[in-house]
Amino acid sequence: MSNQECIFCKIANGEIPSSTVYENSDFKVILDIAPAAKGHCLIIPREHFKDIYEIDADTAGKLFSLATEVARALKQELQCDGLNIIQNNGAAAGQTVNHVHLHLIPRFEGDDVTVTWNPKESNGQELSELAKALRKRI
Ligand code: 5GP
Ligand code: ZN
Repeated sequence: MSNQECIFCKIANGEIPSSTVYENSDFKVILDIAPAAKGHCLIIPREHFKDIYEIDADTAGKLFSLATEVARALKQELQCDGLNIIQNNGAAAGQTVNHVHLHLIPRFEGDDVTVTWNPKESNGQELSELAKALRKRI
């Protein structure tokens, strides 16, 4: 089902043009209009799921499976040195388009892309308690 206000629904159904890399009945793969690096791709499910919490496991599986193919195409075409796969959920995590999507960002030695965080110290007891709590929810 599509959402009339959603820019990625409009891209997926062709209402808004995009540089399309691949499409099938479930997904459209496009080049990001404001790329972090050359070849920055977005994999967009045709169905409107807001985020990781809404997408079903079957579609999510197909999404990542397609990501492996797009990743290989990017590596072959661009000879990139690395590749980041990013998927943002919620404004706090940088999500700006509320239609779930994967970013594939080719990386080149010495590029100016920053996908990083400051590692914190951890505590063994806290890690094991949190792991136990999460285990119960999966
Ligand atoms: P988010 O921040 O939600 O994870 O990522 C949204 C991405 O969509 C951004 O990287 C942004 O540049 C891209 N984007 C937003 N609008 C358009 C558009 O109209 N066309 C294309 N190709 N990319 C878009
Ligand atoms: Zn949508």
